[in-house]
Amino acid sequence: MRKKKLFGTCGIRGPVDEAVTPELIYDLGLGLSTYIGSGEVVLARDPRLTGEMLKHAATAGLLAGGCDVIDIGLAPTPCLSFTTRDLDADAGIMITASHNPPMDNGIKFHNPDGMEYLPDQELDLEEIYFEKRYRKAHWNGVGSVEEYDNAIPKYLSAVIDSVNVEPGIKVVVDCASGAASLATPYLLRELGCEVITLNSNPDGHFPAHSPEPQPWHLEDLRQAVVDLDADVGFAHDGDGDRVVAIDERGVFLKHDTFIASFAKRAAKHHRGGTIVTSVNTSVSIEEVVKEAGGEIARTSLGNLPAAHLGHNAVYAGEPGKSIFPDFSRWMDGIYTAAKFLEIMSSENKKPSQITSEVPSYPMHRENFACPNKYKVDFMRKMRSHLEENITQIRNITDIDGFRINRENGSWVLIRTSGTEPKARMTIEGRTEEEAEELYKTVKKGVKKFLG
Ligand code: MG
Repeated sequence: MRKKKLFGTCGIRGPVDEAVTPELIYDLGLGLSTYIGSGEVVLARDPRLTGEMLKHAATAGLLAGGCDVIDIGLAPTPCLSFTTRDLDADAGIMITASHNPPMDNGIKFHNPDGMEYLPDQELDLEEIYFEKRYRKAHWNGVGSVEEYDNAIPKYLSAVIDSVNVEPGIKVVVDCASGAASLATPYLLRELGCEVITLNSNPDGHFPAHSPEPQPWHLEDLRQAVVDLDADVGFAHDGDGDRVVAIDERGVFLKHDTFIASFAKRAAKHHRGGTIVTSVNTSVSIEEVVKEAGGEIARTSLGNLPAAHLGHNAVYAGEPGKSIFPDFSRWMDGIYTAAKFLEIMSSENKKPSQITSEVPSYPMHRENFACPNKYKVDFMRKMRSHLEENITQIRNITDIDGFRINRENGSWVLIRTSGTEPKARMTIEGRTEEEAEELYKTVKKGVKKFLG
């Protein structure tokens, strides 16, 4: 089996001038044009200070290989995906490091239908890169650049046309000074919302807070929702493919509950169908989907695009990320926000009412240090430790790490990180006591095997 050396789970990302250099981006631009054999490539970037430099490096590579570039400038990743599909282009390139720190940057490749490249395609590109198998155009065959400034308006109209939101919802949105600043506030106003923006001027320094929408970065948003008596709050990551929500009381909506809300309605709407979710999400998603007549397929983390396609899913979600196949094949935080407003509006419910319909079980997530060289050994020992010490095991799945499911629906997931010297545990109990007991059992193993 081929193994990726250059690409991670979400394209290539890392510190500029270490992992991500203009030379690398040039090579990949040339590599892509070799791979697709000329054609049109849509190109966008998020507001990182190195974005302009890397965009030009990618452009040079693409032109040298004979591709034409459609430059849409600063735009969210879902808008890049949409424009690639809308203009019938042969590929899309997004220069972004998503939620990483300001000094990082990266690159992601997209198919003509807007979906990000699948692992096999990334491996093909890597092969061209490592074997330096580039095909360069002759002097009179190099590509040309066209600037296209209608990408965001067209994308927003497509979103507006595919949701049904009654005017009058009061929304606070925090775009983290990222690329969604140019889209979400405008979309919400077009949908008739009363909009209050926080950090919605693009700024590659990310001056207000990290572009990772974690609860501890969103205190201002939470406070604003409460103080201004808003109906809901949304926060994006740096490139807008992710969104999280705050309810009308200022409470951060649990990722799994957010996913369950969409999953349940997708299954109902489609009178069944498959919902794809990652291996680390709550059993509550399974429960609401089953009740709505659908079924669940679980997948490894970072694999939503391939998995939703393989299962012909009606909805796919992992923490922070959603794909709505009726609209698109890409993760779209902007569309997700609009869909949540649609639920609020069509069912006349506050976010806390929507989430209260989803069962909530105590969950515990924790990372711990696990040196790379111990990972294999640790996983083996931990597995037999848990198999011995956890009773009433229904089954064990090995999709990503291992997940032990108990008869009563509670579970333990142990995974090792693919990029860092860490292992991760996720525990969901039916009661606090059970969660606590499972936690102690796992911790015992961690202490025994990792010291
Ligand atoms: Mg992102």
